[in-house]
Amino acid sequence: MTEEKKSIKDALEELSNILNQAQEENEKYLAEILEQTPYETKLAVTAWAIKHILAHAREGGSYRYLIYDRLGFDADAYGVLQTAGALEISNEFDIERMDNIKEHVREHKIESMKSLVGFCDEPGCFDTAGSGFPVEGGYRWTCYKHWNEHKNKG
Ligand SMILES: [Zn+2]
Repeated sequence: MTEEKKSIKDALEELSNILNQAQEENEKYLAEILEQTPYETKLAVTAWAIKHILAHAREGGSYRYLIYDRLGFDADAYGVLQTAGALEISNEFDIERMDNIKEHVREHKIESMKSLVGFCDEPGCFDTAGSGFPVEGGYRWTCYKHWNEHKNKG
């Protein structure tokens, strides 16, 4: 490795350490604020956040849309909320991705993945499950048609 490459590597390592330290200090700062926050305020803020995150899950949108438009934060919140996991949450809520997975499971008739995507547990049925009910030795999760068949058997 040349001297120049070595110094670039050292500079990147130093920068990485500075960023990690800044992140740790920021997390400590946020934890201190939380310690001083009254219980009722924490409850109100948590309920408010969950409500907006759920709306994001249902309606979709980018990470920026979540933090700026839905939650009303400014650019300074980008890194703080990303560190807290908001970007991962936003990416998980990609509705088209789940639709694509369901389509794949349906197209390739993958029985073993049906419960993971919320499909009827009746073998060969790939309709969306909507009814859960206890049966002898377990629990069923089926589409309306198969729930009706079970119900009519008595
Ligand atoms: Zn079914």
